[in-house]
This record gives sequence, C-alpha cells and structure tokens, in this order.
Amino acid sequence: MKLLQRRKQATTQDKSPTYSHYAGSGVCDVCNSPVGSGEAFQVPTPVFWASKKYKKWVATNPITKSQLAMSGITVDQFIAFQRARDKTKYSAVCATCVHLF
Ligand SMILES: [Zn+2]
Repeated sequence: MKLLQRRKQATTQDKSPTYSHYAGSGVCDVCNSPVGSGEAFQVPTPVFWASKKYKKWVATNPITKSQLAMSGITVDQFIAFQRARDKTKYSAVCATCVHLF
C-alpha cells in the first residue's frame, strides 16, 4: 500500500506572495474599496507608511490629491501625520493596491 503523500503546497499567487491575507473584511487602507473576508493583504504598518510608491499614489490620485490641496499640506506631512496616528500593526490592502508595497 502506497503511502498517501500529502504535500502542502504554497498557494501560487502572482500578486504579492510576501504578505499574508487579512482574515477579516473591511475597506482597503489605500483606495477605500470594500474588501471581503480574506481578500485583503496584511501589510505591516511601517512598510505601509514607508512605501515610496504609496506616497506617489497619494500625490497623484485625484481624490487624495485634492484632499491634500484642500487641507494645504504636503504628501510628506500627510504621511507623517497618518503614521503618527496609526497604532495598528497592519494595514489591510486590497489586491489592486498591494503592488504599492
Ligand atoms: Zn485598494
């Protein structure tokens, strides 16, 4: 009798295999689109706020761009402010935005 060989293969994902899935549901911390249970990725907070790509996204996205313009703050000030406020360990990021990290 052959031994049943169970091989636990890592699920092949082209998109960001580095981050584990966020178990809960909520909204993406980048684009605010709703994410279903287990759909978002957990990006560690320091990585999240340190991302240059995210910073560029904030600076170029029409919504955040106009928000910054209205508040009269720079992207750097925004990042610094949000980072100081953020007491969470992870940010939930949807599959569309995870390439920023
Ligand atoms: Zn997103």
